[in-house]
Amino acid sequence: MTKCKRCRERAEVQLRSHNTAFCRPCFIMFFERQVERAISRNQMLTRDDRILVAVSGGKDSLALWHVLAAQGYQTTGFHLSLGIGDYSAQSRAATEAFASARGLPLIVEDLETAEEDITIPTVVGLTRRQPCAACGKIKRHSFDRAAYEHGFNVLATGHNLDDEAARLMGNVLRWQCTQLAKQSPVLRPTHPKFATKIRPLYLRSEYETAVYAFFQGIPYVVDECPNSTGATQLTYKELLNRLEVQMPGTKQAFVKDFHRLAQPAFSTTADTPPNDCTECGMPSYGSICSFCSLVREVRIKKERTRASA
Ligand code: SF4
Ligand SMILES: [Zn+2]
Ligand SMILES: [Zn+2]
Repeated sequence: MTKCKRCRERAEVQLRSHNTAFCRPCFIMFFERQVERAISRNQMLTRDDRILVAVSGGKDSLALWHVLAAQGYQTTGFHLSLGIGDYSAQSRAATEAFASARGLPLIVEDLETAEEDITIPTVVGLTRRQPCAACGKIKRHSFDRAAYEHGFNVLATGHNLDDEAARLMGNVLRWQCTQLAKQSPVLRPTHPKFATKIRPLYLRSEYETAVYAFFQGIPYVVDECPNSTGATQLTYKELLNRLEVQMPGTKQAFVKDFHRLAQPAFSTTADTPPNDCTECGMPSYGSICSFCSLVREVRIKKERTRASA
Protein backbone atom coordinates (compact mmCIF):
# COMPACT_ATOMS: atom_id res chain seq x y z
CA MET A 1 0.00 0.00 0.00
CA THR A 2 1.32 3.41 -0.97
CA LYS A 3 1.28 5.74 1.99
CA CYS A 4 0.55 9.47 2.13
CA LYS A 5 3.88 11.33 2.31
CA ARG A 6 2.42 13.70 4.87
CA CYS A 7 0.37 11.66 7.35
CA ARG A 8 1.25 8.03 6.44
CA GLU A 9 -2.43 7.09 5.87
CA ARG A 10 -3.35 5.21 2.70
CA ALA A 11 -2.55 7.40 -0.34
CA GLU A 12 -5.29 8.05 -2.92
CA VAL A 13 -3.26 10.16 -5.36
CA GLN A 14 0.17 9.56 -6.76
CA LEU A 15 1.98 12.53 -8.30
CA ARG A 16 4.88 11.11 -10.28
CA SER A 17 6.05 14.55 -11.38
CA HIS A 18 6.54 15.49 -7.70
CA ASN A 19 7.63 11.96 -6.70
CA THR A 20 5.02 11.97 -3.95
CA ALA A 21 1.62 10.57 -2.89
CA PHE A 22 -1.21 11.92 -0.74
CA CYS A 23 -4.39 10.86 1.01
CA ARG A 24 -7.50 12.90 0.18
CA PRO A 25 -7.30 15.64 2.87
CA CYS A 26 -3.54 16.05 2.41
CA PHE A 27 -3.89 16.35 -1.37
CA ILE A 28 -6.54 19.06 -0.97
CA MET A 29 -4.20 20.90 1.41
CA PHE A 30 -1.23 20.44 -0.97
CA PHE A 31 -3.21 21.73 -3.97
CA GLU A 32 -4.57 24.80 -2.18
CA ARG A 33 -1.17 25.67 -0.71
CA GLN A 34 0.47 25.41 -4.11
CA VAL A 35 -2.13 27.75 -5.61
CA GLU A 36 -1.68 30.23 -2.76
CA ARG A 37 2.10 30.02 -3.23
CA ALA A 38 1.76 30.79 -6.97
CA ILE A 39 -0.43 33.77 -6.08
CA SER A 40 1.96 35.20 -3.48
CA ARG A 41 5.22 34.47 -5.37
CA ASN A 42 3.92 36.27 -8.44
CA GLN A 43 2.14 38.99 -6.42
CA MET A 44 -1.07 38.20 -8.28
CA LEU A 45 -3.65 39.32 -5.72
CA THR A 46 -4.43 41.28 -2.61
CA ARG A 47 -7.52 40.92 -0.42
CA ASP A 48 -8.80 44.27 -1.80
CA ASP A 49 -8.84 43.14 -5.41
CA ARG A 50 -12.18 42.66 -7.18
CA ILE A 51 -11.70 39.49 -9.19
CA LEU A 52 -13.68 38.36 -12.21
CA VAL A 53 -13.16 34.62 -12.70
CA ALA A 54 -13.76 33.39 -16.25
CA VAL A 55 -15.64 30.11 -15.79
CA SER A 56 -16.35 27.72 -18.62
CA GLY A 57 -18.01 24.98 -16.57
CA GLY A 58 -14.95 22.73 -16.90
CA LYS A 59 -12.84 21.38 -14.01
CA ASP A 60 -10.05 23.97 -14.16
CA SER A 61 -12.07 27.16 -13.97
CA LEU A 62 -14.50 25.76 -11.38
CA ALA A 63 -11.61 24.44 -9.25
CA LEU A 64 -9.96 27.86 -9.46
CA TRP A 65 -13.13 29.67 -8.45
CA HIS A 66 -13.61 27.22 -5.58
CA VAL A 67 -10.07 27.79 -4.25
CA LEU A 68 -10.19 31.60 -4.56
CA ALA A 69 -13.61 31.85 -2.91
CA ALA A 70 -12.58 29.44 -0.13
CA GLN A 71 -9.48 31.54 0.55
CA GLY A 72 -11.66 34.60 1.06
CA TYR A 73 -10.91 36.54 -2.11
CA GLN A 74 -13.69 38.74 -3.57
CA THR A 75 -14.78 36.79 -6.62
CA THR A 76 -17.53 36.96 -9.24
CA GLY A 77 -17.84 34.38 -12.01
CA PHE A 78 -18.21 35.29 -15.68
CA HIS A 79 -19.57 32.71 -18.09
CA LEU A 80 -19.72 33.28 -21.84
CA SER A 81 -22.08 30.89 -23.55
CA LEU A 82 -20.63 30.18 -26.99
CA GLY A 83 -23.65 28.73 -28.78
CA ILE A 84 -21.96 25.36 -29.43
CA GLY A 85 -25.05 23.12 -29.12
CA ASP A 86 -25.29 20.70 -26.18
CA TYR A 87 -21.75 21.44 -25.05
CA SER A 88 -22.62 25.09 -24.37
CA ALA A 89 -25.94 24.19 -22.71
CA GLN A 90 -24.21 21.73 -20.34
CA SER A 91 -21.37 24.17 -19.62
CA ARG A 92 -23.77 26.95 -18.68
CA ALA A 93 -25.87 24.62 -16.51
CA ALA A 94 -22.76 23.35 -14.63
CA THR A 95 -21.55 26.91 -14.02
CA GLU A 96 -24.93 28.15 -12.82
CA ALA A 97 -25.36 25.11 -10.54
CA PHE A 98 -21.89 25.69 -9.02
CA ALA A 99 -22.57 29.38 -8.36
CA SER A 100 -26.03 28.90 -6.86
CA ALA A 101 -24.92 25.98 -4.64
CA ARG A 102 -22.28 28.25 -3.08
CA GLY A 103 -24.18 31.55 -3.24
CA LEU A 104 -21.47 33.08 -5.43
CA PRO A 105 -22.28 35.96 -7.83
CA LEU A 106 -22.23 35.03 -11.52
CA ILE A 107 -22.53 37.10 -14.70
CA VAL A 108 -23.67 35.18 -17.80
CA GLU A 109 -23.47 36.42 -21.38
CA ASP A 110 -24.91 34.39 -24.21
CA LEU A 111 -23.65 34.84 -27.77
CA GLU A 112 -26.92 33.35 -29.03
CA THR A 113 -29.00 36.19 -27.62
CA ALA A 114 -26.38 38.93 -28.10
CA GLU A 115 -27.16 41.94 -30.31
CA GLU A 116 -24.93 40.51 -33.04
CA ASP A 117 -25.18 36.76 -33.79
CA ILE A 118 -21.58 35.75 -33.35
CA THR A 119 -21.94 32.23 -31.95
CA ILE A 120 -18.91 30.12 -32.82
CA PRO A 121 -20.78 27.96 -35.40
CA THR A 122 -22.13 31.11 -37.13
CA VAL A 123 -18.70 32.79 -37.26
CA VAL A 124 -16.97 29.64 -38.49
CA GLY A 125 -19.67 28.94 -41.08
CA LEU A 126 -19.50 32.45 -42.53
CA THR A 127 -15.79 33.27 -42.29
CA ARG A 128 -14.21 29.80 -42.62
CA ARG A 129 -11.90 30.65 -39.71
CA GLN A 130 -10.50 27.99 -37.39
CA PRO A 131 -13.08 27.60 -34.57
CA CYS A 132 -10.55 27.95 -31.74
CA ALA A 133 -8.93 31.04 -33.28
CA ALA A 134 -12.32 32.77 -33.63
CA CYS A 135 -13.42 31.57 -30.21
CA GLY A 136 -10.21 32.78 -28.53
CA LYS A 137 -10.65 36.24 -30.04
CA ILE A 138 -14.30 36.49 -28.94
CA LYS A 139 -13.55 35.19 -25.44
CA ARG A 140 -10.58 37.53 -24.87
CA HIS A 141 -12.63 40.55 -25.91
CA SER A 142 -15.69 39.53 -23.88
CA PHE A 143 -13.64 38.87 -20.73
CA ASP A 144 -11.79 42.20 -21.05
CA ARG A 145 -14.99 44.13 -21.70
CA ALA A 146 -16.90 42.43 -18.88
CA ALA A 147 -14.09 43.15 -16.40
CA TYR A 148 -13.97 46.79 -17.49
CA GLU A 149 -17.74 47.40 -17.60
CA HIS A 150 -18.40 45.73 -14.24
CA GLY A 151 -15.44 47.40 -12.50
CA PHE A 152 -13.19 44.39 -11.81
CA ASN A 153 -9.46 45.12 -11.58
CA VAL A 154 -8.34 41.47 -11.91
CA LEU A 155 -9.34 38.83 -14.45
CA ALA A 156 -8.52 35.25 -13.43
CA THR A 157 -8.54 32.29 -15.80
CA GLY A 158 -8.16 28.57 -15.08
CA HIS A 159 -5.30 27.77 -17.49
CA ASN A 160 -3.39 24.81 -16.05
CA LEU A 161 0.15 23.49 -16.48
CA ASP A 162 -0.81 21.41 -19.52
CA ASP A 163 -2.31 24.49 -21.22
CA GLU A 164 0.77 26.58 -20.40
CA ALA A 165 3.22 23.92 -21.58
CA ALA A 166 1.31 23.40 -24.86
CA ARG A 167 1.15 27.15 -25.46
CA LEU A 168 4.85 27.49 -24.70
CA MET A 169 5.72 24.67 -27.06
CA GLY A 170 3.70 26.30 -29.86
CA ASN A 171 5.36 29.66 -29.25
CA VAL A 172 8.86 28.18 -29.09
CA LEU A 173 8.45 26.01 -32.20
CA ARG A 174 7.66 29.14 -34.21
CA TRP A 175 9.76 31.56 -32.11
CA GLN A 176 6.78 33.82 -31.49
CA CYS A 177 8.82 36.40 -29.57
CA THR A 178 5.92 38.81 -28.92
CA GLN A 179 3.80 35.95 -27.62
CA LEU A 180 6.67 34.65 -25.49
CA ALA A 181 7.04 38.14 -24.01
CA LYS A 182 3.37 38.02 -23.01
CA GLN A 183 3.33 34.44 -21.71
CA SER A 184 3.29 35.10 -18.01
CA PRO A 185 1.14 33.93 -15.07
CA VAL A 186 0.47 37.59 -14.31
CA LEU A 187 0.05 40.32 -16.93
CA ARG A 188 -0.11 43.88 -15.66
CA PRO A 189 -2.46 46.20 -17.59
CA THR A 190 -0.97 48.11 -20.53
CA HIS A 191 -4.14 50.24 -20.90
CA PRO A 192 -6.48 51.81 -18.30
CA LYS A 193 -9.36 49.64 -19.58
CA PHE A 194 -7.45 46.40 -19.05
CA ALA A 195 -7.55 44.42 -15.80
CA THR A 196 -4.53 42.55 -14.42
CA LYS A 197 -4.71 39.04 -15.91
CA ILE A 198 -3.74 36.13 -13.71
CA ARG A 199 -3.42 32.34 -14.11
CA PRO A 200 -3.07 30.94 -10.57
CA LEU A 201 -3.20 27.28 -11.77
CA TYR A 202 -0.31 27.67 -14.22
CA LEU A 203 1.79 25.07 -12.39
CA ARG A 204 -1.03 22.65 -11.49
CA SER A 205 -1.46 19.80 -13.96
CA GLU A 206 -4.74 18.88 -15.63
CA TYR A 207 -4.66 15.66 -13.60
CA GLU A 208 -4.28 17.56 -10.33
CA THR A 209 -7.18 19.92 -11.07
CA ALA A 210 -9.39 16.96 -12.08
CA VAL A 211 -8.56 15.16 -8.81
CA TYR A 212 -9.12 18.33 -6.79
CA ALA A 213 -12.51 18.97 -8.44
CA PHE A 214 -13.50 15.34 -7.82
CA PHE A 215 -12.38 15.37 -4.16
CA GLN A 216 -14.26 18.63 -3.57
CA GLY A 217 -17.43 17.21 -5.15
CA ILE A 218 -17.56 19.83 -7.91
CA PRO A 219 -19.82 18.63 -10.74
CA TYR A 220 -18.12 19.87 -13.91
CA VAL A 221 -18.64 19.29 -17.63
CA VAL A 222 -16.60 16.24 -18.57
CA ASP A 223 -17.32 16.34 -22.31
CA GLU A 224 -14.79 18.26 -24.35
CA CYS A 225 -15.89 20.94 -26.80
CA PRO A 226 -16.54 19.22 -30.18
CA ASN A 227 -14.10 21.68 -31.80
CA SER A 228 -11.20 20.58 -29.61
CA THR A 229 -10.50 17.42 -31.65
CA GLY A 230 -7.82 18.21 -34.18
CA ALA A 231 -6.89 21.49 -32.49
CA THR A 232 -3.12 22.15 -32.61
CA GLN A 233 -3.01 22.59 -28.84
CA LEU A 234 -4.18 19.01 -28.43
CA THR A 235 -1.31 17.72 -30.60
CA TYR A 236 1.18 19.56 -28.39
CA LYS A 237 -0.51 18.21 -25.27
CA GLU A 238 -0.29 14.63 -26.53
CA LEU A 239 3.38 15.10 -27.35
CA LEU A 240 4.10 16.58 -23.92
CA ASN A 241 2.18 13.75 -22.23
CA ARG A 242 4.42 11.21 -23.98
CA LEU A 243 7.49 13.06 -22.71
CA GLU A 244 5.97 13.23 -19.23
CA VAL A 245 5.46 9.44 -19.11
CA GLN A 246 9.14 8.88 -19.96
CA MET A 247 10.44 11.77 -17.87
CA PRO A 248 8.07 12.78 -15.03
CA GLY A 249 8.32 16.47 -14.20
CA THR A 250 9.13 17.57 -17.77
CA LYS A 251 6.10 19.87 -18.15
CA GLN A 252 6.66 21.45 -14.75
CA ALA A 253 10.35 22.13 -15.50
CA PHE A 254 9.60 23.38 -19.05
CA VAL A 255 7.13 26.03 -17.83
CA LYS A 256 8.77 26.90 -14.52
CA ASP A 257 12.25 27.32 -16.00
CA PHE A 258 10.90 29.30 -18.92
CA HIS A 259 9.50 31.87 -16.49
CA ARG A 260 12.61 31.80 -14.31
CA LEU A 261 15.34 31.76 -16.97
CA ALA A 262 14.09 32.60 -20.45
CA GLN A 263 11.03 34.84 -20.20
CA PRO A 264 12.93 37.96 -18.99
CA ALA A 265 14.95 37.89 -22.22
CA PHE A 266 11.75 38.17 -24.25
CA SER A 267 10.00 40.83 -22.20
CA THR A 268 11.86 43.62 -24.05
CA THR A 269 10.10 42.57 -27.27
CA ALA A 270 6.64 43.36 -25.82
CA ASP A 271 4.12 45.30 -27.93
CA THR A 272 3.73 49.06 -27.74
CA PRO A 273 0.70 50.03 -25.58
CA PRO A 274 -2.68 49.83 -27.35
CA ASN A 275 -4.97 52.74 -28.36
CA ASP A 276 -8.78 52.85 -28.17
CA CYS A 277 -10.82 50.97 -30.77
CA THR A 278 -12.87 53.50 -32.77
CA GLU A 279 -15.87 51.12 -32.80
CA CYS A 280 -16.14 49.72 -29.25
CA GLY A 281 -13.68 51.87 -27.30
CA MET A 282 -11.78 48.88 -25.90
CA PRO A 283 -7.97 48.69 -26.24
CA SER A 284 -6.80 48.03 -29.78
CA TYR A 285 -3.51 47.78 -31.67
CA GLY A 286 -5.08 49.08 -34.90
CA SER A 287 -7.79 51.69 -35.50
CA ILE A 288 -10.41 49.00 -34.81
CA CYS A 289 -9.81 46.01 -32.56
CA SER A 290 -9.63 42.46 -33.89
CA PHE A 291 -13.00 41.63 -32.32
CA CYS A 292 -14.78 44.51 -34.09
CA SER A 293 -13.06 43.59 -37.33
CA LEU A 294 -14.36 40.02 -36.93
CA VAL A 295 -17.90 41.31 -36.24
CA ARG A 296 -17.65 43.55 -39.31
CA GLU A 297 -16.55 40.60 -41.46
CA VAL A 298 -19.46 38.47 -40.16
CA ARG A 299 -21.91 41.29 -40.91
CA ILE A 300 -20.63 41.67 -44.50
CA LYS A 301 -20.76 37.90 -45.10
CA LYS A 302 -24.31 37.74 -43.71
CA GLU A 303 -25.44 40.55 -46.03
CA ARG A 304 -23.85 38.81 -49.02
CA THR A 305 -25.53 35.51 -48.14
CA ARG A 306 -28.88 37.28 -47.76
CA ALA A 307 -28.45 39.10 -51.10
CA SER A 308 -27.60 35.91 -52.99
CA ALA A 309 -30.49 33.95 -51.44
S1 SF4 B 1 -12.13 23.99 -28.07
FE1 SF4 B 1 -11.90 25.79 -29.34
S2 SF4 B 1 -13.99 26.33 -29.96
FE2 SF4 B 1 -14.15 24.92 -28.22
S3 SF4 B 1 -14.32 26.25 -26.42
FE3 SF4 B 1 -12.15 25.75 -26.68
S4 SF4 B 1 -11.32 27.44 -27.91
FE4 SF4 B 1 -13.57 27.50 -28.10
ZN1 LIG C 1 -2.35 12.37 4.39
ZN1 LIG D 1 -13.50 47.11 -30.94
